[in-house]
Amino acid sequence: MTTKRGFTTIILHSDRLSKPEHGALHKPIHTSVTFGYDEVEDLIEVFQNRKKGYAYSRQGNPTTTALETKITSMENGLATVTFSTGMAAITATVLSLIKRGDHILASSFLFGNTRSIFQSFIDLGLDITFADATSVDEVKKGLKENTRMVFVETIANPATQVADLEKIGKLCSEKGIIYMVDNTMTSPYLFTPVNVKASLVINSLTKYIGGHGNALGGSVTDTGLFDWTTFPNIFEGFKKQVIPEVLGLTQIRKKGLRDGGGTLAPEAAHTISVGSETLALRLERACTNAFALAKFFESHPLIKKVYYPGLASHPQHKLAGKLFLKYGGLMSIELDESIDCFAFLNKLKLVIKSSNLGDTRTLAIPVAHTIFNELGPEKRAEMGISESMIRLSIGIEDLDDLMHDFKHALN
Ligand SMILES: *Cc1c(COP(=O)(O)O)cnc(C)c1O
Repeated sequence: MTTKRGFTTIILHSDRLSKPEHGALHKPIHTSVTFGYDEVEDLIEVFQNRKKGYAYSRQGNPTTTALETKITSMENGLATVTFSTGMAAITATVLSLIKRGDHILASSFLFGNTRSIFQSFIDLGLDITFADATSVDEVKKGLKENTRMVFVETIANPATQVADLEKIGKLCSEKGIIYMVDNTMTSPYLFTPVNVKASLVINSLTKYIGGHGNALGGSVTDTGLFDWTTFPNIFEGFKKQVIPEVLGLTQIRKKGLRDGGGTLAPEAAHTISVGSETLALRLERACTNAFALAKFFESHPLIKKVYYPGLASHPQHKLAGKLFLKYGGLMSIELDESIDCFAFLNKLKLVIKSSNLGDTRTLAIPVAHTIFNELGPEKRAEMGISESMIRLSIGIEDLDDLMHDFKHALN
């Protein structure tokens, strides 16, 4: 037995060790939509899940598989399915596993578009309710007889609430409920949800894993902890075809990806794959920058409030320290009423007014007017979002330059 290699080493050598042609170090970008077989029997075996292989790229191709392998090892999981975006991964996973009559309990503190698609599911007749996921007691109170899934984010965006991840995991595991954790804000470098008994892990690959703001992608990883043989919504046809461990992910790949069609393009898979090689290095730098800036903002008289789990004043600071390797690259601030929020933003020269997060560049956005605008003031208040909040996704620029830019804008 050799010792397990480190996080970055595994990513760097993942493609090469699967032996692509000519000793290539990267898995090639396979653009073929379909795959041909000399013997029809082989094609049939692939269709019937009896043999590994590819048929039609909507449900995967060798380039996306190579990325899936990397994400699986980053998450210490069993297997992964990639999608065109993080939202496609969330949508497909919920729709492929949940049926009418089932209940989903979701965190009240959710990414805006996740909250919005959950509202669409409610409008379609699914039973989804929300609970304060920073407290396992609130989650417990929200459970029903028919709860099939609990959905939380690690660090919520933009107000950085940290879910009571470990205790919720224990609760779900005891009750046999699918525990779905959106790990986008922490990424598998800072946190692996399998350690708190997550069943399924969502990542928006667009954010830290891809990391350069140049490709959209999403994924769901099965941690291997959930017993799919007891899950009543598995399609009968799959039970005869695949081993019990991969029943859940087979259903997500077939009913979610193949039928839903939110397929990751091979070019994007390649871009994300290259980006992921430096995930650990980028996040180390972003976390260091974010920590220093959070301290600076906290002590600045014109900043009313700083939301960052790394600060002792954060309500879940201790919990975050216990769960995560570092406190992440995202924070939100509220300015003193005496300064105009838009004027402050417009004075920033280096920091970009933009909506993405997890980019190499530092980005700022006024939350209530943009990404959470559609929800209206009432839902925003429910989600802990104040009207003057500015979200900052801290990048990997040289810290002095970022400090200078913020100091200048606050002057
Ligand atoms: C961005 C984001 C998503 C959606 O990902 P896309 O790739 O933009 O579709 C989902 N969850 C969280 C927490 C996010 O930040």
